[in-house]
Amino acid sequence: MNRRRFLKNAAAIPLLPIAVSQTLTTAAGRAATGIPVRRVRPGDPLWPSTASWSRLRREVEGRLIKVESPLIACQAEPNGTPCQEVLKQLKNPYYVGDQPGLTQTSGWADAWMSAPSVYAVAATKTEDVVAAVNFARDKNLRLVVKGGGHSYKGTSSSADSLLIWTRAMNSIVLHDAFVGQGCAGKQSSQPAVTVGAGAVWVQAYDAVTTKAGRYVQGGGCTTVGVAGLVQSGGFGSFSKNYGTAAAGLLEAEIVTADGAVRIANACQNSDLFWGIKGGGGSLGVVTKVTLRTRQLPEYFGGVLAKIKANGDAAFRKLIARTIAFYKEHLFNPHWGEQINFQSGNSVEISMVFQGLNRHQAEEVWKPFLDWLRDSPSDFSFEAPFAFLEIPARHFWDPEYILKHHGELMARDERPGAPERNLFWKGDGAQVGWFIHGYRSAWLPGSLLAPERQGVLADALFESTRHRNVGFHFNKGLAGASADDLAAAKDTAMNPAVLDAFALVIIAGGGPPAFPGLPGHKPDLQAARRASRDVNKAMDRLLELATNPGSYVSESDFFERSWQQSHWGSNYSRLAAAKRKYDPLGLFFVHHGVGSEEWSADGFTRLTGP
Ligand SMILES: Cc1cc2nc3c(=O)[nH]c(=O)nc-3n(C[C@H](O)[C@H](O)[C@H](O)COP(=O)(O)OP(=O)(O)OC[C@H]3O[C@@H](n4cnc5c(N)ncnc54)[C@H](O)[C@@H]3O)c2cc1C
Repeated sequence: MNRRRFLKNAAAIPLLPIAVSQTLTTAAGRAATGIPVRRVRPGDPLWPSTASWSRLRREVEGRLIKVESPLIACQAEPNGTPCQEVLKQLKNPYYVGDQPGLTQTSGWADAWMSAPSVYAVAATKTEDVVAAVNFARDKNLRLVVKGGGHSYKGTSSSADSLLIWTRAMNSIVLHDAFVGQGCAGKQSSQPAVTVGAGAVWVQAYDAVTTKAGRYVQGGGCTTVGVAGLVQSGGFGSFSKNYGTAAAGLLEAEIVTADGAVRIANACQNSDLFWGIKGGGGSLGVVTKVTLRTRQLPEYFGGVLAKIKANGDAAFRKLIARTIAFYKEHLFNPHWGEQINFQSGNSVEISMVFQGLNRHQAEEVWKPFLDWLRDSPSDFSFEAPFAFLEIPARHFWDPEYILKHHGELMARDERPGAPERNLFWKGDGAQVGWFIHGYRSAWLPGSLLAPERQGVLADALFESTRHRNVGFHFNKGLAGASADDLAAAKDTAMNPAVLDAFALVIIAGGGPPAFPGLPGHKPDLQAARRASRDVNKAMDRLLELATNPGSYVSESDFFERSWQQSHWGSNYSRLAAAKRKYDPLGLFFVHHGVGSEEWSADGFTRLTGP
């Protein structure tokens, strides 16, 4: 940071002539003077007047709201019914998503804590977004954008900011034969779906799969926001077969920092289009996306089990066998999701499959089960193998799932909540999560070569001495089809994703935490201990892979070389798009493209134009 220059310039501000100080009321004006831009906060002389806010409220037809955390109910009466009701709902992802003042992660130790914006534009249409973008830019405000609110890194939350809240922009339109605007004659038509930016994936799955019998690549977690996931890259349980969500993007409507509404696709604004696909979400406000839809297989299904090894030697054997088995039988587009290698010498399997039926899945796993059963003194089952088969069309169908597999999914229990408001119980633990430590890395497929499996197994065993280690096989594309690899290659994501057989995630966290809330204060000592263990566990695995890269939306808040880690060789191209469409950095997110020019809170420009 050029701190000396900043202080010197800041001290000179009162002496500036009026004409110059007037230019300072806009970010562009400040940048033109060479004086670092400092965004305004409530109480600053340049914070917009009540009359200005009223003008914005009129422009957005009343949809400007003052934001408060619902936890305010707990300040006055921590034991009162309103407070207790809010605390109970903090584990309901739909309730959290419906609050402009909350986020799905409550914070991250020593990194960020969820904080409500001052105002929000609860946008229902593109014009609302345009008005908010113009207002934030002209008034030099810190702007945040929130859809599903699932950012682990708090990128949709900032105190003293204006929020564009897209939650209500959730319309969904199916197309039999979509051609991008301006692409007639250049692109063949294909089935697609246009989804409002603020929709969550369960709404898209309901329309596309349950009602129309098609597949759209979205997130595994049903409550993640559509636009947030596409701009992350975006993996679902079946990404080894259908690729990333970003790779399925055909077109987006986006409001850029100049307030223009742009169509981005392969035929117009193609640099913006490419940057939206996995660029991390700071090129503008996406208002809707059109994604290709694909044929649904007959069945989706899952394999669940937990195997306990009797001692360290048996656990080493189990790790080695699991890796070899994965490589031989599961390293293909049929299989996704996770195997978790745990500190208690156990292996937890929560894998999903597509394009197989239950019988075929059982056949695939038979050699592994036989191997386990041959060594009863070494291995026991903490949870026996369970094979599930679900007609693909019913995978997200509330009626079917709750009737046949109520053990897998939970409902939004609020009175009057839509029936489709379902979430996987496995994701429930993360609702309101206070993160202690979180790191991830893409492990290259070369580690599965027979001659490398031994070193991988050794590192994995040693890593589990510190922390559980999760292999998310659907979040690395090695093993996917050539077409899906080519489509993913044409996105801003780090190309390392193409060669990775899995994203390994090592993390820890606790229940929802809010500073000052009795009984819910962050336990920083425990968090720092856990974070140290996460680091030790990941550092051991990283001895196997230099610069492996990691998934922008599921990675370390403290990553030092984040540009390389999240975008690799694509960073310079992404940075060029940022300079073109947002030269003054209106859209700031932690470790987003161009954020190196800003202070950590996104309020002070340190370098740049
Ligand atoms: C419990 C949980 C489960 C998850 N599961 C998966 C998973 O299965 N697969 C996967 O790939 N990822 C997963 N993630 C990561 C998730 O996909 C990303 O964090 C994603 O960015 C969240 O999008 P959102 O809209 O829900 O969140 P938000 O916090 O609202 O937004 C995330 C980021 O995108 C920006 N953004 C949101 N909407 C817009 C918009 N319209 N225009 C411009 N910028 C926008 C925000 O400003 C913010 O920086 C998970 C995260 C959590 C917390």
